[in-house]
Amino acid sequence: MKVQAIRFDQTGDASVLRYVEAQIPDQPGPGEVRLRHVAVGVNFIDTYHRSGLYAVPLPSGIGQEAAGVVEALGEGVTEFKVGDRVAYAGGPIGSYSSHRNIPAARLVPVPDAVPDEIAAGTLLRGMTAQYLLKRTFKVEQGMTVLIHAAAGGVGQIATQWARALGATVIGTVGSAAKARLVAPFCDHVIDYTQGNFAEQVRALTDGKGVPVVYDGVGKATFEGSLDSLAPRGMLVSFGNASGAVPPFSPGVLSQKGSLFLTRPTLGYYTATREELLATAADYFSVVANGTVKAEVHQRYALADAAKAHRDLEGRQTTGSIVLLP
Ligand code: NDP
Repeated sequence: MKVQAIRFDQTGDASVLRYVEAQIPDQPGPGEVRLRHVAVGVNFIDTYHRSGLYAVPLPSGIGQEAAGVVEALGEGVTEFKVGDRVAYAGGPIGSYSSHRNIPAARLVPVPDAVPDEIAAGTLLRGMTAQYLLKRTFKVEQGMTVLIHAAAGGVGQIATQWARALGATVIGTVGSAAKARLVAPFCDHVIDYTQGNFAEQVRALTDGKGVPVVYDGVGKATFEGSLDSLAPRGMLVSFGNASGAVPPFSPGVLSQKGSLFLTRPTLGYYTATREELLATAADYFSVVANGTVKAEVHQRYALADAAKAHRDLEGRQTTGSIVLLP
């Protein structure tokens, strides 16, 4: 069948993204289902694939996340039926499309209480917040934690969830408008474009520093994140929104207080079917019960994917972003 999709033949800026008509087999292969995408999530990782920071074989589709409706079943698929509402996050690459055939093992069911746009735009970020806060470094009652880019997609979910877990949350943002936006989710907000955020974190913690920093900004904040930690604290460096962190010497970790550094990715925390289902279910449960108000603030037509990338990379977005096929 004919489908609409975004593809790119070479890496580069957002202009390499092309809106095309493509062909997929009518009948999904063994273990696959055919999905009609209702909404497609746009994530920072998509810009890394497009720019070449994370290499993918070319030419390529793009996108890791979507929600949709099962339209046809391949041989051997028993877990889903035609008409089911499902979502996926973390690939396989190619979600910027109207329809696709995809392994059923990648899909999770979407509860009735979670709208399609929220599932499509926030499952990847929500599952990321789940493993970061509950498994990479376990946030507990009474801790003070630092979460960068608090107004962003992961940031808004992680700040609300960390607070629900009993933490005092310090969030950083890049503008006064974003500071106002996240004020309800954070105990303290720092605009890291104005002055030294590590000094402000020390001031807020009686000079002690925090036990954990969640840093998806990367290059621009790496040094300051280390300087914000208490002795034996952990830097969870999980993204590169400002660029990749350059190589550094492990000796720095000893000098700055016997620190821990980890560079986790969602794929390794949802590697088994059981982990994937449990992680998604935990995230959907906090959305459904109102603990986390996940917001889709930007909607674009599928054909306008390049504009969505420009806005995301240009720090123009807050919360999550979807493309509507
Ligand atoms: P966001 O919506 O958080 O957008 C990124 C934000 O980073 C911007 O809005 C901006 O906020 C901030 N930022 C700071 N410096 C820059 C810069 N130079 N250029 C662009 N943005 C900058 O994106 P996502 O929610 O999609 O992802 C957040 C981070 O989490 C990304 O690094 C992403 O790769 C990572 N990630 C990692 C995963 C993992 O498993 N490792 C999974 C999912 C996401 P401000 O203006 O307030 O500074």
